[in-house]
Amino acid sequence: MSPNQTPRNDSRRTFLKFSVAAAAASTFRIMNEPMLAAAAVDRGVDRDFQHFPPGSVVINANENPLGPCDLARKALADIIPDGGRYCWWLKEELTKQFAESVGVKPENVAIFPGSSEPLHFCVMAFTSPKRSYVTADPGYESGMHSSKFSGARVVTVPLTKTYAHDIPAMLAAAPDAGLFYVCTPNNPTGTVTPHSAIEELLAKKPAGSIVLVDEAYIHFADLNATAIDLVKAGQDIVVLRTFSKIYGMAGIRCGVAIARPELIQKLVPQGGGSAMPITALVAASASLKHEHLVPERKQINTSIREKTFDWLRSHGYSFTPSQANFFMLDAKHPAKQVIEAMAAQKVFIGRIWPVWPTHLRITVGTQAEMDAFQTAFAAVMKNSLSVSYALPTSATGSHRDYFYADGTMFPRTSS
Ligand code: PLP
Repeated sequence: MSPNQTPRNDSRRTFLKFSVAAAAASTFRIMNEPMLAAAAVDRGVDRDFQHFPPGSVVINANENPLGPCDLARKALADIIPDGGRYCWWLKEELTKQFAESVGVKPENVAIFPGSSEPLHFCVMAFTSPKRSYVTADPGYESGMHSSKFSGARVVTVPLTKTYAHDIPAMLAAAPDAGLFYVCTPNNPTGTVTPHSAIEELLAKKPAGSIVLVDEAYIHFADLNATAIDLVKAGQDIVVLRTFSKIYGMAGIRCGVAIARPELIQKLVPQGGGSAMPITALVAASASLKHEHLVPERKQINTSIREKTFDWLRSHGYSFTPSQANFFMLDAKHPAKQVIEAMAAQKVFIGRIWPVWPTHLRITVGTQAEMDAFQTAFAAVMKNSLSVSYALPTSATGSHRDYFYADGTMFPRTSS
């Protein structure tokens, strides 16, 4: 047995378990970016999703190829001898440190193993069969999947012409709203919704509803545009941050919810408040101490993204004006075919949003990865997607429960 086989089989088992559970709609499961990205790779090509062929370029899950910074790596190594202990005070210490870093009180901050958990908990706490979940289209799908478990109606609203959340349309579409989800920069477009629009949403939203602002990618854009000041102002808002993106800790798992204490408390009965891995706590803490991490990594990402944009422009392709580490590219061909043709060239790009069936989500990788992307994309488009590729056929099909015939994963809604 190769060293790879155990995780490979575990991955498949985990995924199949998830498929069965969600198909039955009887068990809670948080649907997050790695699951969506992994499932999209597995689908169609039927490849075990955690195992890309050697030499693959993997730009499908908005990950940071730089990984944790040096300070975080040292903290991770140093904590190993304490791995037999809970070290609960580390969570308190990180809570205080994070609160100070964004200018709120520790009681406004709750730490989780990633931001997927608080996102799911917000949907469970603030939506119900009577209180709908309102989100953008295209938008990040995770909360829509969670709404299946809260029984909420999902209301999807197209983005504006500038790819911001359309606040007046979101308000008009859901007088029964329980939760408005605003992702800025928005996954998958990378585009920003102005602070003034979030203020407008808070001012006009139905009584009792909550605004959830997901700032997973804000460090790549403009940190001054944060909605955390609206938490300080005592508004009905929860802001999410994660260490998965600019801090390169997606596999280490640390995320934060920032809100009024009574809103934070509402997340606890949904499953919040459990112990954190001490590795995540010390790596996050060390990352926050790194004075230059955010500006340096923002600059690296911007430079590679803008070079990629120059290349795309020079070849006549249009794309969303992203300020994040990913963007939507209009291939002007059915996206599913392009994804599969790119996969055959060992370049794994992101999934499909049904509202934009010719668009592909591309994560900004290293310069070398983006060079490889350009070469593969040019070849795929030149050959009008007729490149030949041979992929193994499906051994089992139950994971396909998550996909529609057009290759999309965006949950169907009643709106
Ligand atoms: N929010 C958005 C918009 C995301 O794209 C992701 C992951 O890609 C998450 C939240 C969750 O990330 P994590 O659970 O790794 O913090």
